[in-house]
Amino acid sequence: MANLSAMRQSEQRPERETSAEHFRGSAPLLAVRDVSKRYASGQGQTLLALDGISLHVAQGEFVALVGPSGCGKSTLLSIIAGLEDATSGAIALHGDAQAPRLGHVGYMPQRDLLLPWRDALGNATAGLRVQGVARAEAEARARALFADFGLSGFERAYPAALSGGMRQRVAFARTALVTRDLMLLDEPFGALDALTRAALQRWLGQTLARLGTTCLLVTHDVDEALALADRIYALSPRPGRVRLERRVPLPRPRTHADLAHPEIAALKAELLSALLDETALADAPREGGAR
Ligand code: ADP
Ligand code: MG
Repeated sequence: MANLSAMRQSEQRPERETSAEHFRGSAPLLAVRDVSKRYASGQGQTLLALDGISLHVAQGEFVALVGPSGCGKSTLLSIIAGLEDATSGAIALHGDAQAPRLGHVGYMPQRDLLLPWRDALGNATAGLRVQGVARAEAEARARALFADFGLSGFERAYPAALSGGMRQRVAFARTALVTRDLMLLDEPFGALDALTRAALQRWLGQTLARLGTTCLLVTHDVDEALALADRIYALSPRPGRVRLERRVPLPRPRTHADLAHPEIAALKAELLSALLDETALADAPREGGAR
């Protein structure tokens, strides 16, 4: 982990002037202000995927965004990663709305498949290699992380020879190696069986807490958010809007037993009722028809 913390320290940028006055001052690591996204959905019609999303993530914080399928979670992460533009609104890193995000935040997309023809080390170093890091250096950094990620001895194994949980840890390693300030995770446990998922959630919670990595996770799973996050935003069905923001009243990392804590159970009930609110469902505008 020396790698990641060294990277983080060497990349602390001085405060820069920003065009948006309200981003100045005690700026969080990530601020999303009033972001909307409208897609063209064919035949002159449009589809509003996100509607006025505002949220923030502080340095070292783990924030989860929970919302139903199709509410725009993946769209929002890909905008924050710099892969897509918002239709309106602003996104600032360290208070700087002009700061480049592409290549500066680590992004693990929803379907983060490993390349079957590359071994574990080759897959883990793929992001660094794209950034122009020499093979020997990329492999040295990945090997150090492999020890920490329980992957030592599997450097030369191909994805087909790894368990689902190990493949996912290789994908996390690839993301962690290119993460400077912020790690974005899009439903990272979706394709795993329930036990592997639970084990990997616990591992990720411990690992990120130890590394101090700032993380924004999106999920449709309230339990996952409660297991991992310091703070949770609940989103409405499409178009995604922030419906509720709550702090999880227990320190991280958490155990499975923590989730039975009465305060967590009460928070779960509150989040679920916000997510399942039928009246709000009924008045969410549906535009453009097709998904
Ligand atoms: P989630 O990740 O919450 O399931 P998505 O962000 O994938 O939701 O999608 C939100 C909505 O935006 C969906 O209705 C989806 O069909 C639509 N959408 C996503 N990407 C595109 C695109 N490139 N063009 C048009 N519509 C899109
Ligand atoms: Mg998605």
